[in-house]
Amino acid sequence: MKEQLALLRELQNIDLELDDIKSEKEEIVARLKENTGFLDKLVEDLNAQKEELEEIRSLQRRKQVDLEEIKEKLTARQKRLREVSSNKEYNAVEMEIESFKKSAEQTEEELLHLLEVIESTEESIKEKEDKIVQLREGIASDEAEAEKQLAALDKTIQSLEDRQEEARTEVSRRVIHKYDFIRSRRPGLAIVAAKDGHCEGCFMALPPQQFIEIQRGESLEICPSCNRILYFWEDAVGEESPAEALEEA
Ligand SMILES: [Zn+2]
Repeated sequence: MKEQLALLRELQNIDLELDDIKSEKEEIVARLKENTGFLDKLVEDLNAQKEELEEIRSLQRRKQVDLEEIKEKLTARQKRLREVSSNKEYNAVEMEIESFKKSAEQTEEELLHLLEVIESTEESIKEKEDKIVQLREGIASDEAEAEKQLAALDKTIQSLEDRQEEARTEVSRRVIHKYDFIRSRRPGLAIVAAKDGHCEGCFMALPPQQFIEIQRGESLEICPSCNRILYFWEDAVGEESPAEALEEA
């Protein structure tokens, strides 16, 4: 059993490292997704603002047409003013002229205001477009960098998975089954040391008789508190982690 437990520790080291690398990969992918999400949001804002600008411009065109019409009417009334004979009609036309002048003035003011809004909207659009260009460049270089990182991680995963497969074939089916069952219920450690009469996984004291069994290493011992597989700590002294083993390779 001691040999089986040693193989299981090796398998666990590989599995823990695989967990780490896989979560590192997930973080990279999540970061890229976050960047892209931010860009998408900015593009969406930009498009909304462009639509808004189009609406303001079309309002501007309508107001300009209105102004032309008012001015035409004004010119016609001014011409008419020179032709009227009666005082009464003169006064009436003069009043109309005043009203058209006011209306033209108001429309001109509105047009001026619209022009200001158009200018500030155009400025804001330009800023967004510049920001988008910058972001796209940043994302492209991030993605290139991430691709390299992911490729390197995939290579490490592949080599660890090869070793994982090899290690699994060497452990008995009963022990592997127990190990897989524990890991399926709780990520992290499935096999832990028993030291000074307690479990190093949950730090609960073990029954003295069980601690003796663990030291003998002839049976598969499970912690009664945390249900992890136990080995005698001295048996693992000098074992190296797969990271160390990979560095040496
Ligand atoms: Zn325990």
